[in-house]
Amino acid sequence: ANRMAERAVDVIKLLMAQGQMLKINDVIDADTAELIATEMGHTVKRVAESDVEGGLFDDIDNDDAGDLVNRPPVVTIMGHVDHGKTSLLDAIREANVVSTEAGGITQHIGAYQVEKNGQKITFLDTPGHEAFTAMRARGAQATDIAILVVAADDGVMPQTIESIKHAKAAGVPIIVAINKIDKQGADSTRVRTELLQHEVFVESMGGEVLDVEVSALKKTNLDGLLEAVLLQSEVLELKSPQSGSAQGLVIESKLDKGRGAVATVLVQRGTLSVGDIVVAGNEWAKVRALIDDKGEQVKTAGPSTPVEVLGFSGVPDAGDRFAVVESEARAREITEYRQRVIREKTAGGGATSLEQMMNQLKASGIAKFPLLIKGDVQGSVEAIVTALNKLSTDEVSAQILYSGVGGITESDVTLATASGAVIIGFNVRANKQAADLAQREGIEVRYYNIIYDLIDDVKGVMSGMLAPEV
Ligand code: GDP
Repeated sequence: ANRMAERAVDVIKLLMAQGQMLKINDVIDADTAELIATEMGHTVKRVAESDVEGGLFDDIDNDDAGDLVNRPPVVTIMGHVDHGKTSLLDAIREANVVSTEAGGITQHIGAYQVEKNGQKITFLDTPGHEAFTAMRARGAQATDIAILVVAADDGVMPQTIESIKHAKAAGVPIIVAINKIDKQGADSTRVRTELLQHEVFVESMGGEVLDVEVSALKKTNLDGLLEAVLLQSEVLELKSPQSGSAQGLVIESKLDKGRGAVATVLVQRGTLSVGDIVVAGNEWAKVRALIDDKGEQVKTAGPSTPVEVLGFSGVPDAGDRFAVVESEARAREITEYRQRVIREKTAGGGATSLEQMMNQLKASGIAKFPLLIKGDVQGSVEAIVTALNKLSTDEVSAQILYSGVGGITESDVTLATASGAVIIGFNVRANKQAADLAQREGIEVRYYNIIYDLIDDVKGVMSGMLAPEV
């Protein structure tokens, strides 16, 4: 009705005349819409996704393209909590990044590159399988090789097993890093034996999975680990065209006070250059600057290179694919089309479906724990949401009303008030107005800077919500 500039009631009357009893926010299918619009004297032009999006992405694995070059492997570190994922990422970075900057300041942009025997390796900087799987859930895969960290004094633990499952599901080869070999009670053989039960067969057990003993703390044998990565990547024969317009993935994004919307992208094929027009999800950019993991401005970024991109109209989501397009007009056409699709998808549902959902939950006797999540970067927000969703059982579930990047604002508090939700801030705070409003409305705001603590607390609250057994 809106777009035809007709009264909604007239549209509803026409629908009724055709036997369709609908309310104002109900969604109708495209054929019905075309019928009604035509009947009301309007001309309909159907826009298919393929018309707008056609040809945007070449198949990433398409090897037909010309100038194929070897590209560096992209590595994710997974494993059980406290087994040393972060320590290992930091140790590798410190030992191998040769900073040309005075003072050697390195930037965390979500990924970094190191060099070993003249070959580059790209590490994704958010450890754990949550972020990895959140990306995959969106149809994007960044990782070529997974390093599975197992602490030699602790052995295979629940998240070790989960990591194995996630890597196998993605078809990503595993390299086992047996960590903490400096510790008393370290038993590498036990780790290898335990891994057998989960169908990870390391070389010394007659299998093909590479395993390396390391100590992230003492920086022991990090070279051995990097050599294993290079060996594995040789087997994978990773190639990509180097010339041509770039395509790849958004791996981190944030709203920066000084620099505006900033996205870290991983180039997967082609070369990204300053001045390119890039579309990522619902946002686009005329690339104003590219900044590498050493904090230096660069003019171009080739395959498997992570770079920060400045110049985005808004913050794209982690996991969004990006592609270079030929003009600003084309970028606008695509992003406006995508935004419209989203608006249309949400407009119909809106209040009613949320209401329905609550009623359903009540009727089925499921206890729900409404939450609103705000975080500093998209990657952590997604990891938190995925982990919280996994906590849900038959009896109790976390209901995430909203999740997003940025500080906690008054409108977040209003939303929480409407549903009696708890607000969670991960590395972000509420501004003064929001804090005041939350206090007046009696809305609980909790702050965290460690994902594990956050999940643990929510788990606690959820188990408290379970009705005591009679
Ligand atoms: P993550 O949760 O997997 O990221 O684990 P962290 O990197 O945070 O490490 C957990 C704890 O183990 C920290 O106290 C580290 O100092 C310690 N740690 C990590 N690697 C080693 C190691 O090789 N040897 C010893 N002794 N401790 C380690």
